[in-house]
Amino acid sequence: MMSELDKFKEESAMSLFGRSRLLAIAGNSCVKCGESAADFRDEISKKEFGISGFCQVCQDDIFGGSDQDDLKDEILDQVHPIFE
Ligand SMILES: [Zn+2]
Repeated sequence: MMSELDKFKEESAMSLFGRSRLLAIAGNSCVKCGESAADFRDEISKKEFGISGFCQVCQDDIFGGSDQDDLKDEILDQVHPIFE
């Protein structure tokens, strides 16, 4: 049984990406591109996958790569209230 919040997160992912975030994370695949998400550059990227379901490539796409990790931290603060 999912909580209201979990349901909201699922529905957000479904409408944004057309797939289930929970299923993507459980299957180690990316919620955005559907590719397998096994390799992460650092702990923050790995953690990010556990929360948002984005693989490393999609994270770099969104956050701008390793030289943008400060920005990433900042964006995560704004994005995560939706997912956490
Ligand atoms: Zn991806």
